[in-house]
Amino acid sequence: MIIGSHVNYGKDGMYGCVKQTLSYGANAFMFYTGAPQNSIRKAIDLDDVKKAHELIDSNNIEMKNVICHAPYIINLANKAKIEAWEFSVNFLKEELKRCELLGVSYLVLHPGSCVLETREKALQNICDGLNEVVDNDTKVMILLETMAGKGTEYGINLTEIKQILNGVIYKNKVGVCLDTCHLNDSGVDISLFDKYLDDFDKEIGLDKIKCLHLNDSLNPLGSHKDRHANIGYGTIGFDTLINVAYNSRLKDVPKILETPYIEDHAPYYYEIKAILEKKFNEHLKEDVLK
Ligand code: FE
Ligand code: FE
Ligand code: ZN
Repeated sequence: MIIGSHVNYGKDGMYGCVKQTLSYGANAFMFYTGAPQNSIRKAIDLDDVKKAHELIDSNNIEMKNVICHAPYIINLANKAKIEAWEFSVNFLKEELKRCELLGVSYLVLHPGSCVLETREKALQNICDGLNEVVDNDTKVMILLETMAGKGTEYGINLTEIKQILNGVIYKNKVGVCLDTCHLNDSGVDISLFDKYLDDFDKEIGLDKIKCLHLNDSLNPLGSHKDRHANIGYGTIGFDTLINVAYNSRLKDVPKILETPYIEDHAPYYYEIKAILEKKFNEHLKEDVLK
């Protein structure tokens, strides 16, 4: 099982991310290179990266299971304010460079929100943006995340994800990150996950899936909300999420928890333990707070 969680880069850089990962009993992790909601980024500290990689190697963590997530402020879908779109493109270019310095191969990206653009125009804008940042020399693969359909988000079903991939020139530089909460909220019944994978394979190809966000959802199927819940504490449920985590077709894909903190404490050690033991923890809150 390749499993980990979102970790915090803000405190002790990449080295701190690995420390947190090990404390959660994980062998994969994902982080933002700064606050997800803003564009303030410190220069990458190469000493930190070196120390982090030594710790990664000595714990047999594979770099393909270390993921970065681009900040939400990047929106390639909306060109109505051209300066904002250009800012997104430039920020994404810099983010790819940061990933390269960090030695990270995958960058998860929300395709964007249409705002006042038509979905057709938004699709074109996303493809234009990706084609501006990705070229033959790009060493980092961008993973388009499947979205819940909150507001005017793009990338909320297989058709839309496929359309973006079709519009990308360097097709081997763009893949997909599934998110179980987003899929549920977009209307995909996760209890029929194998059926979804069949459809995905037919439309896109399972080899495009390089990361999976394993989250429960606070809201019902098709609610278009995007609010994550702890594993087994939402509408998807523990057994269904276990079936996703152990699906043999996604065996080599890292499973990353983005479940909510409990009173400012990371729940990941106990959630990962529950997944590895395939046993629902009905005392998660007590365990996390003890
Ligand atoms: Fe995301
Ligand atoms: Fe996600
Ligand atoms: Zn989400």
